[in-house]
Amino acid sequence: MKGVLFVISGPSGVGKGTLVKEILNERNDLKLSVSCTTRAPRQGETDGKEYFFIDREEFVSRIRENGFLEYDEHFGNYYGTPRSYVERQLKDNSVILEIDVVGALNCKRLMPEAVLIMIAPPSIEELSRRLESRGSESDETIKKRLERVKYELGQKQLYDYVIVNDALNEAKIRLIEVIDTEINKRNEGE
Ligand code: ADP
Ligand code: 5GP
Repeated sequence: MKGVLFVISGPSGVGKGTLVKEILNERNDLKLSVSCTTRAPRQGETDGKEYFFIDREEFVSRIRENGFLEYDEHFGNYYGTPRSYVERQLKDNSVILEIDVVGALNCKRLMPEAVLIMIAPPSIEELSRRLESRGSESDETIKKRLERVKYELGQKQLYDYVIVNDALNEAKIRLIEVIDTEINKRNEGE
C-alpha cells in the first residue's frame, strides 16, 4: 500500500466538509472517499458527490456482501465507507474519509496505520451558530446533533491530531501541514 488513509472527524457543523473541499481543490494527489447513506439529500447535494444516496434495502444488502470498510447508524440513517474504492485508491494515492468518531476508531482497528484527525470547534456556542447558519436541519435535528458533541469531543485523546477550526485559513494550513508530514513519513519509511 502506497498512500496514507486520513480519517477526518469532528462534530456535525464544525467545518469538516468546508475544509476538505478547500484542500481537495488544491491537491489532486488526495482522493476523497464518498460514503453511502440512506439519509435524504440536502438541498444542493448531488448523488455521487457528497454521498451516494441509496435506500435501506440496498444498504443492508451491501453490508451482507462485506461492501463496507465500516458503517454506522446516525440519527436513524445508515452511513458507510465503500471498501473497494478505498482499497483501490490506496494502491497509488492517499485517501480522505470524512466520517464520525465511531467509524474512525473502527478504521483504526482495521488499519492501524490510518491517521486520525479530529476537527474541533473553538467553542460549543460557535458550533451551534455554524449549524444554524448552514440552515440545513430542523431545530430538533440540531438539538440531537449538539447532544452528541460532548461524546465526540471526549474521544479526542484517541486521535493522532486535533485541529481547532477557528479561523478557516489557519485550520486549512495546519491540516495541509499534518497531511504532508504523514505522507513524507510514509515515504521515508519505504
Ligand atoms: P461539517 O461538514 O463539519 O458538518 P460544514 O463544513 O458544513 O460542517 O460547516 C458548517 C457551517 O460552518 C457552514 O455554513 C460553513 O460555511 C461554516 N464554517 C466552516 N468553517 C468555518 C469557520 N472556520 N468559521 C466560520 N464558519 C465556518
Ligand atoms: P451528515 O448527515 O451531517 O452528512 O453526517 C452525519 C454524520 O455521519 C457525520 O458525523 C458524518 O461524519 C458521519 N458519516 C458520514 N459518512 C460516514 C461513513 O461513511 N461512516 C460513518 N461511520 N460515518 C459517516
